[in-house]
Amino acid sequence: MGTLASVEDLSLYIHFPYCERKCPYCDFNSHVRQRIPEEEYVRAILWRLRCHGEVFADRVVRSIFFGGGTPSLLSAGSVSRIIDGAARYFSLCSDCEITLEANPSSYESSRFSFLRSAGVNRISLGVQSFDDSSLRFLGRLHDSKQARIALEHASGIFPRLSFDLIVCLPQQSDAALKRELNAALSYGSEHLCVYQLTLEKSTEFYRRFRKGELSLPSARRSSEIYRLVEEELSLHGYASYEISSYARTPMARSRHNLVYWRYGDYVGVGPGAHGRLRLSGDMFSTLETRSPERWLRQACSLDSVIEKRWRLSAREQYMERLLMGLRLREGLPRAFFSSRALKFIDDLRLIGYCENVFTRVCLSLEGRLRLDTIVSELSDLLDAEDMLEIDFYEEDLSLGILSNG
Ligand code: SF4
Repeated sequence: MGTLASVEDLSLYIHFPYCERKCPYCDFNSHVRQRIPEEEYVRAILWRLRCHGEVFADRVVRSIFFGGGTPSLLSAGSVSRIIDGAARYFSLCSDCEITLEANPSSYESSRFSFLRSAGVNRISLGVQSFDDSSLRFLGRLHDSKQARIALEHASGIFPRLSFDLIVCLPQQSDAALKRELNAALSYGSEHLCVYQLTLEKSTEFYRRFRKGELSLPSARRSSEIYRLVEEELSLHGYASYEISSYARTPMARSRHNLVYWRYGDYVGVGPGAHGRLRLSGDMFSTLETRSPERWLRQACSLDSVIEKRWRLSAREQYMERLLMGLRLREGLPRAFFSSRALKFIDDLRLIGYCENVFTRVCLSLEGRLRLDTIVSELSDLLDAEDMLEIDFYEEDLSLGILSNG
């Protein structure tokens, strides 16, 4: 069992904005540059951590997440300096989860043991597929052989391993999907993320789609694929605890991502990084400058403009909490909803989209397939009654929800 999370806990997200190549489906703040200014980047991150540490020194940090971009392009020495900096400016709990996202190229996997020595205890590998033609379609630099080697290598080095798959590729058959899942299951990792390929504006795939050069499976086919993934993974002992995330045990869940979904506090540093922070009873959203070059310039001149910070209205908080909370299998406390919303939820239960509505409101598999529609209906029902002064996070804690489980 994990230790009980507290409203005073904090997580740190560190964004590394560089990649070796831009994948055609990716709309993250990731950029390809001839030279990665690693030393300047590390110094800037340390400055940003120090700024937040001056305000939040009394909070206990329970997770650190290096995301990107491709943070495995950082040297182990740089990762170690950042982790040491975090320990200097904050209090890290003794079992702090430290995750780093990595691509399974041979160059990166050759450095896993150094990353482990630097303090990384959980690796999240962007495998995406075990099929070479799918990997080429997705514009990935690695092939299936490299993915397999990286997985074997990582599982011998890191105490905790997760990897990502992308499904719902054009014309993906049930047989092809099962081959992917069987390959994934053969590694027995404690955690898996299975994402459906979506078309995001500003991506190469979106441009191809607009020109009629690319089409994705229909909504109906996507639902079939989602059901099949759920069925196969649960047959093999993976419980879905969030719409795309599967874990073999409660402790294998991503402690860091649970903070986002349960609307906990996190500091976000690095180009384009978001944060959510409670200060004097208000919830603030933070956003750092998006362009890596401008962010670095601002960091070098210790410019406070690097971070925008604004107070979230009660409605914004409610909507964020709703959207995040319903992604989780544990759902949201019933007390979160107004009587008007609860009537609608009771109707959802009758048609099988909701379950466990006595103390908490959780979406069933069929409900999760309709998450966007359900959230939109609930937001239409939103009135002042929904935004009573309830600290929803505290309420979850009083129900005894543990950090990872
Ligand atoms: S490696 Fe990841 S972050 Fe980088 S472009 Fe590809 S999907 Fe985006």
